[in-house]
Amino acid sequence: MGPNMRAKIDIYDTTLRDGSQGEDISYSVDDKLAIAEELDSLGMDYIEGGWPALGNAKDQAFFKKARRLKLRHSRLVAFGSTRKVGEKPGKSDMLKGVLSAETRDVCLFGKTNDYHVTAVLRTNLEENLRIVAESVAFMKKRREKVFFDAEHFYDGFRRNPGYALQVLRAAREAGADSLVLCDTNGGSMPSEIEFATAEVRKAFPGTVIGIHTHNDSELAVANSLAAVAQGARHVQGTVNGYGERCGNANLVSLIPNLTLKMGFTTLPERQIAKLTKVSRFVASVANLTLSDHQPYSGTSAFAHKAGVHIDALLKAPGSYEHMDPAKVGNVRRLLASDQAGKAAIARKFVDFKLDAGPEEAKAVIGLVKKRELEGYQYEGADASLELLVRRHLGKSRTWFKLLSWHVDVERREAVQPTEVSLKLEVAGRVEHTVAEGNGPVNALDQALRKALLPHFPALKGVELVDFKVRVLGGQGGTSARVRVLIESRDPSGNAWSTVGVHENIIEACWEALVESVEYKLMKSSKR
Ligand SMILES: [Zn+2]
Repeated sequence: MGPNMRAKIDIYDTTLRDGSQGEDISYSVDDKLAIAEELDSLGMDYIEGGWPALGNAKDQAFFKKARRLKLRHSRLVAFGSTRKVGEKPGKSDMLKGVLSAETRDVCLFGKTNDYHVTAVLRTNLEENLRIVAESVAFMKKRREKVFFDAEHFYDGFRRNPGYALQVLRAAREAGADSLVLCDTNGGSMPSEIEFATAEVRKAFPGTVIGIHTHNDSELAVANSLAAVAQGARHVQGTVNGYGERCGNANLVSLIPNLTLKMGFTTLPERQIAKLTKVSRFVASVANLTLSDHQPYSGTSAFAHKAGVHIDALLKAPGSYEHMDPAKVGNVRRLLASDQAGKAAIARKFVDFKLDAGPEEAKAVIGLVKKRELEGYQYEGADASLELLVRRHLGKSRTWFKLLSWHVDVERREAVQPTEVSLKLEVAGRVEHTVAEGNGPVNALDQALRKALLPHFPALKGVELVDFKVRVLGGQGGTSARVRVLIESRDPSGNAWSTVGVHENIIEACWEALVESVEYKLMKSSKR
């Protein structure tokens, strides 16, 4: 470790500004407030809340409401552009908009690429220097910190390094607290980032250098680290790398890389264990499915399937992992599949708190193999696996019995309601319920809950959060089967997944739904 290790790196989150530019993302004001609180609980140094330009009603409303947030750690930052060509800063709607957010600190972006100055701004290089200097000085008089985002810095530096540095100098001399070098188009290579950042560092000793990268060449995280290696101490990015086009630098990867791998100080270390939770929270508010294979926070990030790996991991934790998943709040998963060995199943017995030996493990492997041939998959359905194992060991109970269900799918003009009528036997009584939903799964779920809630209050607040259907190819003349995976969640945030397989999609849904409910009842009866 070099002399810079343990140096503090400020983490500047722009999930709510640059990160909301992703084409499939649209946050409401309340979404933004909820995310801001979550980012604060993680301990981000700065949260860029938005671009409160006059006319941007949503971001204006956000900053107004955000004044009531009790942020314990983070400082909220308003973002905006420098003044227009030929304008007086005091007359600039752009700068007035930024001030209207009433944040302690602000971030202004300006042009550093001479080509953009002449071709896009359509002005001369001198006027751009005045634009940057006057805008920064205007803000510095009115706000505590002014961050200067040097737009297209790396591209500009390649074209005309002298001019790019002159713009930085104008910003610095006008009072900018950090010079944030942006790879706006995301096309730079790590070696180019290193070279240019080192030149800036030489030209501005003692100034905080920042880095803001985009992922168009899949290098946003690597390029941020390259800049840090050359002395950048302020890193901008977004949760899950959300952002325009291919996204921004992913803070969920950057933070553990900087802290756990490279030894820098970023967020408080125990806060880093909240990363997985925050990553999944932001994905759910954005209404996007987080990739299972997302480094650090994905459900498969520390999942092991190959029997050899599992065997080794049980003997020597860490032997097939780059780090302890608990450090980022994730968990190791040993997957039960037909590749899994006895050791993995024995481990499952421990997880499920079941007293069973190697003979039973062998039998369960046989059972899992047989079910996998039928189309079941337990890798993503631990709850169904636990129920399967318990049934096999005679350690399960029946909570209710299905007598019949009837599903009525109808199409009327604009609405396509589905009606389900359901007959169950619960505690010696026959329950008959009818429910309507926007599809068969939803309607079955409603009817099932309606019948069971009076008997089992533990089901209150349980909801379906994800639903995946996969058609499995028919083999040897058999018709195709459908596999349904359902993810459920209870109000305390516990999530579990169940699986159902059948030729009939509704039957497959029913099986997964029933297992979801049985699992919840089994867990709550243990408490
Ligand atoms: Zn950007």
